[in-house]
Amino acid sequence: MSRLLPLNFDLSGKVAFVSGAASGIGEATAQAFGQAGAWVAVSDINEDGGLRTVHTIQNAGGEAIFFKCDVANPKSIENTMGDIVKNMGRIDFAFNNAGIEGESQSVVDCTEENWQRTMDINLRGVWLCMKHQIPIMLKNESGAIVNCSSIAGLGGFVNMPAYVASKHGVIGLTKTAALELATKNIRINSICPGVIQTPMIDRLVHGDSNELKRLVQMEPMARVGRPEEIASAVLWLCSDHSSFVTGHSLVVDGGCKAN
Ligand code: NAP
Repeated sequence: MSRLLPLNFDLSGKVAFVSGAASGIGEATAQAFGQAGAWVAVSDINEDGGLRTVHTIQNAGGEAIFFKCDVANPKSIENTMGDIVKNMGRIDFAFNNAGIEGESQSVVDCTEENWQRTMDINLRGVWLCMKHQIPIMLKNESGAIVNCSSIAGLGGFVNMPAYVASKHGVIGLTKTAALELATKNIRINSICPGVIQTPMIDRLVHGDSNELKRLVQMEPMARVGRPEEIASAVLWLCSDHSSFVTGHSLVVDGGCKAN
């Protein structure tokens, strides 16, 4: 199990959905939900990794089921949300986290395929997850959704046009959904992680320690973040401790965007 911060949230009796829960930030957040007593719907395209997360939660005394879902596939999302309701009866919290970095290509060189795949997973996937989660939450007249954006949703990054556009889109989409649901006891926020040590970052730096150093230099705290540090913020946004927070983009980046 990844190193978890002590969490004081009591989410027992609640059902939490996490996409991209086989790895990195999603894995740590699924574990944190389990630690807080929620039933966890662990979802990912990667079945082996997703089942690993389920076993980790169960071994720690929590409850979890794996739901295979490809967020690039609208039918897969619809079926998954239906299956969760069949198995668990409700969805109280959703962390729409699955995302890809896409290919590193300039605005000029970006292929339509790279653009489309990145948008389909990072932006359309988040919209379609909410499209099916909100009616389920409306039936229970409560819920909280956190969508995963990035500091790349707040500014440009060279050679990542599709990723940056998708993450800006997540913030606008989240604000719109939050306004639509504001009087319905459903809060919808986004989270903007800085550089977090996950397989995505390993892929981005290609094992090049100089590249990693360059990323660390972006961080005023002179270190990268840990997935559990994002998980804590997601659980806070889902918990009643943030009951007057909606439509917000919570930056968790070690001060990177303060520069
Ligand atoms: P990660 O370790 O690569 O985890 C992403 C997970 O999502 C993987 O298990 C991946 O499966 C899964 N996934 C990919 N495509 C999917 C699809 N179509 N349907 C369902 N699941 C899919 O990445 P991470 O760093 O934890 O990133 C999680 C989120 O945080 C992403 O939205 C990312 O943009 C955002 N974020 C990350 C950072 C960072 O520094 N790490 C910073 C800001 C924002 P496979 O491994 O099989 O592809």
